[in-house]
Amino acid sequence: MQWETVIGLEVHVQLATHSKIFSGASTAFGAEPNSQACAVDLGLPGVLPVLNEQAVAMAVQFGLAVHADIAEVSVFDRKNYFYPDLPKGYQTSQMYHPIVGHGEVEITLDDDTTKQIRIHHAHLEEDAGKSLHEDFHGMTGIDLNRAGTPLLEIVSEPDMRSAKEAAAYLKAIHSIVTYLGISDGNMAEGSMRCDVNVSVRPKGQEAFGTRAEIKNVNSFRFVEKAIAFEVERQIELIEDGGKVVQETRLFDPERDETRSMRTKEEANDYRYFPCPDLLPVVLDQAYLDHLRSQLPELPAEKRERFQQALGLSAYDASVLSASRDMAEYFEAVHRVCGDAKQAANWVQGELSGALNRENLSIANSPVSANQLGELVQRVLDDTINGKAAKQVFQALWHGEGASADAIIEAKGLKQVTDTGAIEAMIDQVIADSPAQVAQYCDAEPEKRGKMIGYFVGQVMKASRGTANPQQVNGLLKEKLDALL
Ligand code: ADP
Ligand code: MG
Repeated sequence: MQWETVIGLEVHVQLATHSKIFSGASTAFGAEPNSQACAVDLGLPGVLPVLNEQAVAMAVQFGLAVHADIAEVSVFDRKNYFYPDLPKGYQTSQMYHPIVGHGEVEITLDDDTTKQIRIHHAHLEEDAGKSLHEDFHGMTGIDLNRAGTPLLEIVSEPDMRSAKEAAAYLKAIHSIVTYLGISDGNMAEGSMRCDVNVSVRPKGQEAFGTRAEIKNVNSFRFVEKAIAFEVERQIELIEDGGKVVQETRLFDPERDETRSMRTKEEANDYRYFPCPDLLPVVLDQAYLDHLRSQLPELPAEKRERFQQALGLSAYDASVLSASRDMAEYFEAVHRVCGDAKQAANWVQGELSGALNRENLSIANSPVSANQLGELVQRVLDDTINGKAAKQVFQALWHGEGASADAIIEAKGLKQVTDTGAIEAMIDQVIADSPAQVAQYCDAEPEKRGKMIGYFVGQVMKASRGTANPQQVNGLLKEKLDALL
């Protein structure tokens, strides 16, 4: 039997407002427990929520970016349940009239093809506090700093068909919200987490299978791993004559498996009803137009422009547009050096390699885009050869000079193109290598091409890497062949 995987994601994005969605308390990460929870967040009697306009604007910006219908009227509902990290006894969310309606996100797959994933809706809600189990023996600590932090929950249609597509979707959402600047997208700090709904069905069957929902998966890699495990589990279960039950499961990254938490609750268990403390949110056309006019160029548009206007490959365009920092860095290098392909190669090659090795983000690169642009310029105008360019890059990386030119000057890396100077070095190498010269002359003609490498290496070494490699090659061949 051939099986097909069906996946829908509910992504929670923490919005980058300074204060909470219904109170003035700070949302900054990492503060002393319970130092950022005010009377509203604690649900004390007599307090009333006040909606943070910034959270509304951010939700709308997201909606516009995914070409969604924005609700003229949206309503906050109370989702009622008890948990120690929820002092009010209900979470304020949007159940029946969410702020963002149907939309669409384009994802890019490994083979550079694209696919549209439909957004069912996105709604605003508040986060709960945190239960702390470590450091408390036989007790649980409660930290309410996170209570009331604004979240945008983005619910997809079940349009994904593999773990790879799900990861690509999550990356697309990550890149949209960080481009918009509506979230810092920091998954390690929980700024983006997702619930992964997974089911399987026999290939060709139209009806969906029963799904399991895996809660709170917080990295791209874990999304893929959790789905891979869950798909295996469901297929095995069905093939052994069992049935998948609709339930909530937990992914355990240490054991690389999902475990049952509870059977799935129904919406009516929560007794949703419109929050009497908050007015409906009414948005007019002028407000939407204003926000629309402020949207930055988004990843999909950038990718398209990098291909069409700059002539980059689909792959390069997609890598360089994935994060706003990366795209801006690349564009700055391009502006300085004027050659998109070379700029792309250096950003993705030498620079990304060095950043990865030292686990640095591009925003913290020790080499600025201007410095790299000037370096590429010096390669393009033949001031230095490729080998010297790598040395200059390393020197810039380690702060050994302020600019490519300064380093080229200080280290004497200027490319030697003076034929006389190169010929003198070649003559010296030939005079110093009688055995290799004899070998070269005795070799069959088709083998000589390879053997010339030794001499090129010696001449480059003699020039401390500064000779023009094409000239060295051409002149060497002439001189050696004259000895045959
Ligand atoms: P609930 O409100 O109970 O969480 P929804 O119907 O709103 O359920 O769906 C939640 C998520 O589950 C959505 O992202 C949706 O795409 C996904 N989903 C629904 N049915 C399936 C299915 N059979 N297989 C995989 N994902 C599904
Ligand atoms: Mg759900």
